[in-house]
Amino acid sequence: MTTSMAIYGCILGIINYPFVLVIDWVANNRPVKVVYKIQEKKGQRAREIRNSIITTPVHAMLFLGFISSGLLHIEDESLGLILATFLLTFIWTEAWHYASHVAMHAKRLHFIHREHHLSLLTGPWTSVSFSFLEKFIFSIGILAMLSMLSQIRPLSAFGIFAYYILYFLTNTLGHANFEIRREGYYDSLMGKVFNSPSYHAMHHARYIKNYGLLTPWLDRIFGTEWDDAAEVQSRAARGEPLTGLSERCALRMTKAFQ
Ligand SMILES: [Zn+2]
Ligand SMILES: [Zn+2]
Repeated sequence: MTTSMAIYGCILGIINYPFVLVIDWVANNRPVKVVYKIQEKKGQRAREIRNSIITTPVHAMLFLGFISSGLLHIEDESLGLILATFLLTFIWTEAWHYASHVAMHAKRLHFIHREHHLSLLTGPWTSVSFSFLEKFIFSIGILAMLSMLSQIRPLSAFGIFAYYILYFLTNTLGHANFEIRREGYYDSLMGKVFNSPSYHAMHHARYIKNYGLLTPWLDRIFGTEWDDAAEVQSRAARGEPLTGLSERCALRMTKAFQ
């Protein structure tokens, strides 16, 4: 294994913790726009921290395992290859996450996803709280597809590494239970492409729909987006948090009569 691969692996193995700690500090010490103003269940934080010890290094271990075993072909980095690999990893992970997430909500497979959903109210530590099997399936699905594609054309290790960094950061923000976008975000160009933190907070609170990872496209295509997602985002951004897990927001008139 090369020195650069060892460095990538070490960083991926621990980088999620500083993200969680910083965002948790922000949530507790800065005037954030909370999505759900509800008391966290007793023992939730301790359970999430325990889970993180088992699941946080999974991405790093599999990343190094696929590369050092030769399953994932990599070659010398060039800017074009880094960007292409990053984009490829981003698009495939959106599709794989959506498909595997929906499947894990089916009765027979729910045991894999149950641990993550014990947190009805999300917090930064929820982003690292999974069953080992769920993290393993998610990560192996990403790398298996990349490995197959790398048989045709070798990929960039740094491109995959950079995607994982983005994933760790955005996944922590996605579970933070505070809104970082302005009111009306889903009407903006960026809001039509990327989710905001309230999107996944709704998934945990209501248990179904809003299965997407960083984008809402697949939820929109397959009709699994909550119809008041934009209203919940705007309400949180105005500083008016929801106060019940099953609370719904009234739809805007134009949308309600469509
Ligand atoms: Zn789920
Ligand atoms: Zn989650």
